[in-house]
Amino acid sequence: MSALPNYAYFKGKIVPYSEAKVGVMTHTLNYGTGCFGGIRGYWNAAEQQLLIFRPHDHMRRFLRSSKLLLMDLGLTEEQLVNIILDLLRTENLREDVYVRPLAYKGDEIIGVRLNDLTDELTIFAVPFGRYVDKEEGAHVTVSSWQRVDDNAIPARGKITGAYVNSAFIKTDALRAGFDEAIALTQDGHVAEGSAENLFIVRDGILITPPVTDNVLEGITRRTIMTLVRDELGAEVIERPIDRSELYIADEIFFCGTGVQIAAITKVDHRPIGTGQMGPFSSDLRELYFDVVRGKVAKYRHWNTPVYVAETSAAD
Ligand code: PMP
Repeated sequence: MSALPNYAYFKGKIVPYSEAKVGVMTHTLNYGTGCFGGIRGYWNAAEQQLLIFRPHDHMRRFLRSSKLLLMDLGLTEEQLVNIILDLLRTENLREDVYVRPLAYKGDEIIGVRLNDLTDELTIFAVPFGRYVDKEEGAHVTVSSWQRVDDNAIPARGKITGAYVNSAFIKTDALRAGFDEAIALTQDGHVAEGSAENLFIVRDGILITPPVTDNVLEGITRRTIMTLVRDELGAEVIERPIDRSELYIADEIFFCGTGVQIAAITKVDHRPIGTGQMGPFSSDLRELYFDVVRGKVAKYRHWNTPVYVAETSAAD
C-alpha cells in the first residue's frame, strides 16, 4: 500500500493528491509561517465505522493557531470538520487514520512577515498506527534544548516553524539512544515532550504543567483531565513542575493524539516508580482506548462518525 494519500483538500476542493502541489517560493515553505493540526480517527470494526476523535476541539485550536499567525481562512470550525469528513469519505479508509489540516501562507514572494499575505488550507489523511514504539515504557532524557518561549514562538499554537524546536529535541534524544525527550521552559520548569504533553503522578495526585508554561494546549491533555476527575475520581492539578520532580515521581506519562498515552518508565537512566508502567498510566490507557474507539457511551459525543449522513456536533 502506498504511504501517500490518494486525495487532498487543496485550493477549496478535494483533488487527487498528486495535484496538491505548491511552488518552491511559497512563503510558509521558506519561513515556517503556517500552522497545522493532527487528528486521529479510530476504526470501530464492530460498527464498521470510522470515528474521528474530538474534531471540533481540534478545529477550534487550529483556528486559534491560525489567528496567532494573522490568518483568516474564512471557514468556521463546523465547516472545517465537514471538509475533513468529506475528505475521509472520499479516501474511504477503513482502518485507523491520522488527519493533517495545514494552513499556510501561499504567496510566492520574498519577505518575512505575517500580514497581507494569502492564507491557504490543505488537508490530507493517511492510515496510522503507533507513533512511538515504546508506549508501554519509554526511556526519555531531559533535553538540553529549551522549549520555545511564548515571546519567541508561542507554543500554545501548532505553528510549523516551532517544530524545528521539536525536531532538535527529538533528534538529539534519539541519537543519544533515548526514545524521546522532555523539554524545559526558559526558567527551567518542565514543559512537554517534542510532540506530547506530560503528566506526573505524586502521592496519587496527577500534575501537569499549566498552559502558561510553553506547552501546546493539547486536546488529549484535556481529555485526560476529564477522565481522571470524572472516571478515576482522582485529583488533577496544573502547576509548574520542577525537573527534579521527574526523578522522584511515582509515574510519568506522555499524552497526545499521536502518542496516545505512553508510560515513561525511565528518565535519564533513573527508574520512575517501580520502573514499570504504574497503575494510573495503565488504567488511563485502557480507558482512553475504549473512549477513542467509541466504546464508552458517556463520551460518544467525542466520537464523530465518518460514514453516516448525520454527524454529531455536540461536545
Ligand atoms: N505538544 C506538542 C508540541 C504537540 O505537537 C502535540 C501533538 N499535537 C501535543 C503536545 C499533544 O497535543 P494533542 O493532544 O492535541 O494532540
